[in-house]
Amino acid sequence: MRKLFTKSIRAKSLTLTAGAALCSMMLAPLPAAAQQNFVSIGTGGVTGVYYAAGGAICRLVNKDRADHGVRCSVESTGGSVFNVNTIKAGELDLGVVQSDVAYNAYNGEGQFADAGEYKKLRSVFSIHPEPFTVVVGKDTGVEEFSDLQGKRFNVGNPGSGTRASMEQLLTQMGADNSFFSLASELRPDEHGQALCDGKIDGFFYGVGHPSANIQDPTTTCGAKIVPLEGEAVNALIEQYPYYAQVDIPGGLYTGNPNDIPTYGVLATFVTSEDVNDDMVYEVVKAVFNNFDDFKRLHPALGHLVKEDMVKNGLSAPLHPGAERFYKEQGLL
Ligand code: GLU
Repeated sequence: MRKLFTKSIRAKSLTLTAGAALCSMMLAPLPAAAQQNFVSIGTGGVTGVYYAAGGAICRLVNKDRADHGVRCSVESTGGSVFNVNTIKAGELDLGVVQSDVAYNAYNGEGQFADAGEYKKLRSVFSIHPEPFTVVVGKDTGVEEFSDLQGKRFNVGNPGSGTRASMEQLLTQMGADNSFFSLASELRPDEHGQALCDGKIDGFFYGVGHPSANIQDPTTTCGAKIVPLEGEAVNALIEQYPYYAQVDIPGGLYTGNPNDIPTYGVLATFVTSEDVNDDMVYEVVKAVFNNFDDFKRLHPALGHLVKEDMVKNGLSAPLHPGAERFYKEQGLL
């Protein structure tokens, strides 16, 4: 069955039938503004960029709620893989998902090999780049990823895109979590504190920059971002369409003045084919018609370009509601 809005509360009006002493309740014709249609966006940890991007999208949608009746809410979640699975279960309407995770979900590869292909996944637009970011403690002596062998490293919580991508890297290296002396599974909202408390030597995080999440340990305890390069990384970039070499720009974080080479993906905004076309249309319209505001709502969104967002990094077909808006705007 085709799912419409998550919930719909319809305005009712009470009409007194003239001449007869009867009261009848009728549904009044529905002006768009009288409807309340709920849309939920799954994101990531509260200190990451997904939560901020989802918040920015909802803020712009809710600003014009009186016109379109869509009420948007943002949820902090375990990250990309969780978001895909929850959209698939019909419990979230939209979500932010790494482009590699979206590709694997649509095609039934990688961490979705057992679940099989999810052909109802739909792209809405891509957002910011997410370089894989390796952060280490100041006194660990770690200068690059390979130095982390035998160290205590946070590989990310199950359900995160971070964790899925970490596993793909380790597999490519012919290794697994035993590469580290401890492979902890802390959530991104916990890994900075654990690093500064000396409980781990480093962590891995696929995230946009600048991010409060990386700012905290770099300012609090002098944490350093180190390069992630080498044969395995080159092979991944060569083999998979969603990976690209990127630099984390120097000077974004205290004590990290130089560009750091690594590789990464794009954050993408996705939904299901079952989500209502008009609702997706309204969400996209809110973002694209208030584009300067959107870019100002978080510094990691500051470099976005509409023409790129409608095509780059999108593994699943565009949702028809999004496609309609892009065609009207001449973006497609
Ligand atoms: N890329 C991360 C993940 O999918 C989330 C990053 C963020 O929350 O900004 O787990």
